[in-house]
Amino acid sequence: MTTAADQVVRWDRAHLWHPFTQMQDWLAAEPLVIAAADGNYLIDAAGRRYLDGVSSLWCNVHGHRRPEIDAAIRAQLERVAHTTLLGLASPPSAELAARLAAIAPPGLTRVFYSDAGATAVEIALKLALQYWRLRGEERSRFVALIDGYHGDTLGAMSVGFSEPFHRFYTPLVPVTRVPAPYVVQRTRGVAPDAALAAALAELEAALARDRGAIAAVVVEPLMQGAAGMWPQPVEYLPAVRELTRRYDTLLVCDEVATGFGRTGRLFACDHAAIAPDLLTLGKGLSGGYLPLAATLATEEIFRAFLGPYEDYTAFFHGHTFTGNALACAAALASLDLFTPALLASLPEKAAALARELDARVRPLAHVVEIRQCGSMIGIELMRDPRRREPYAPRERVGHRTILAARRRGVVLRPLGDTLVLMPPLSIRADEIETLVMVAAESIAEVTGG
Ligand SMILES: *Cc1c(COP(=O)(O)O)cnc(C)c1O
Repeated sequence: MTTAADQVVRWDRAHLWHPFTQMQDWLAAEPLVIAAADGNYLIDAAGRRYLDGVSSLWCNVHGHRRPEIDAAIRAQLERVAHTTLLGLASPPSAELAARLAAIAPPGLTRVFYSDAGATAVEIALKLALQYWRLRGEERSRFVALIDGYHGDTLGAMSVGFSEPFHRFYTPLVPVTRVPAPYVVQRTRGVAPDAALAAALAELEAALARDRGAIAAVVVEPLMQGAAGMWPQPVEYLPAVRELTRRYDTLLVCDEVATGFGRTGRLFACDHAAIAPDLLTLGKGLSGGYLPLAATLATEEIFRAFLGPYEDYTAFFHGHTFTGNALACAAALASLDLFTPALLASLPEKAAALARELDARVRPLAHVVEIRQCGSMIGIELMRDPRRREPYAPRERVGHRTILAARRRGVVLRPLGDTLVLMPPLSIRADEIETLVMVAAESIAEVTGG
């Protein structure tokens, strides 16, 4: 029996505290209650269907209720839902580790599970810190990108930064922040080539200044998602890899958002043919079904932790649900759906999105920029694009735009006044048209342009 929607709303208003939400606004508005889903559509309590335009916060990959993933979870449920990896092995966690090592950028042979992107990043940071200590070096500093986003636990927040999200918390670890090329381009008004060179020069200066004290460089490769979809030129990542080698430090690539096909390839690193020392995965790992994340490490890092028990060099880290069997079974089924045909379809889908955006969104008066990498898209809105004058935060232009889209049957979630489109990889050609058309109409309605 399903609970009446008005009862859900009463409970929600009385007791639920929503993530990334000003609850004062939430309590004053009528919430949309999603009761079910079907493929690329969410279904509300009244049976109305909405295109899931941001993949349920960037994680749904193959659509909802995919029979193959549903069946894999059911089959696992017939055996067991969860057993611990502390002292015990399990079939789905072992098989998934082998599969991930086989498809990940080369050299990433070891898989450490957790249950959120943020925890995957915490693990990467802790592995880096302990790795250097085990090698007899005291290295506590990280180098990270300005306005990087790596999740909301304290360590992950320390290497990330966003003024409104982070202003009540001081970093737990010393961090040097360097701009990605896009930031240089945007804040200093320089051309892309010069911005790339300047960003690399700043990174090199930071690495040279604290040589021997930097545990790792942490980046979101190819696209800084939560900053507002800030793209990187593809040359940036191999140059960062080269610099981290030259200055003898580790490279952490956070592919929690970019992994699993989002950029048009399985991993963003694949575009640049590089492999980091540590790779974090989350969001799409389980197809967007269950909380599962992974930190992949090289054999070299793994081997540094080996030694007699009594030396206590082990990685003393774990979560109750590390390697959860249902989540790993979902992830295995999701990986099976990454057929050559699916991967081959991604460039055409990205091109179709770009064509629609060019035709319908780019001409709108208050669209200052459209940023796209694969199926990750940011549409930035400003009061005066020519003078780069933003809207006032209290106007809630991004938020009002997604409410306008919702009335037209598309669920979106903005980043400030940047409208984000990140449809599931399973989106069809006609749905791409609907998605972009609704985005355009909603922007026009709210900005009057
Ligand atoms: C979403 C995100 C995270 C955090 O993942 P959670 O599962 O929300 O903790 C980390 N890094 C990046 C790049 C992300 O986009």
